[in-house]
Amino acid sequence: MSKNDRFYTVRGYQLLNQEDKSLTSGMEDYLEMIYRNMEKEGYIRINTLSRLLNVKPSSATKMVQKLAALGLVDYQKYGIIFLTEDGKKYGKFLLDRHNVIEKFLQNIGITENLLLETELIEHSISKNTMKNIDLLNGFFETHPGVLEEFKKFKEIAGHGIGKT
Ligand code: ZN
Repeated sequence: MSKNDRFYTVRGYQLLNQEDKSLTSGMEDYLEMIYRNMEKEGYIRINTLSRLLNVKPSSATKMVQKLAALGLVDYQKYGIIFLTEDGKKYGKFLLDRHNVIEKFLQNIGITENLLLETELIEHSISKNTMKNIDLLNGFFETHPGVLEEFKKFKEIAGHGIGKT
């Protein structure tokens, strides 16, 4: 992640604080997936979305209708979903948040179940904690020596952790 992406992330928190739309974890998963996959064509089909999320098209339709009621997606006909401007902002925030957590886990040397852990953590983290993790990632990026030191430290001090 580049420096600029981090600034956008911080701006994302501000936007969300103003709008304060709180979604359930399930809705966030949908919105994140829509945002991830609509960049190429500008829309995503309900069938594609349900395949990507491993859910039935009927379940996907229900959830998308909820997002539409919140003004985050435009879903009218032919099974095609567009994001509204608010939906794009929120989707970007969700994807950024995902990437910040994934990056942090990678920084501390997590390789096992990386995606699963990211998915679990992302829904429960506060914006403030997230912002600070984002800063920590940035600190590691600008001070790579510190991360190297941590890796060395971990090899010695962390040896045997989790192995009884
Ligand atoms: Zn995610």
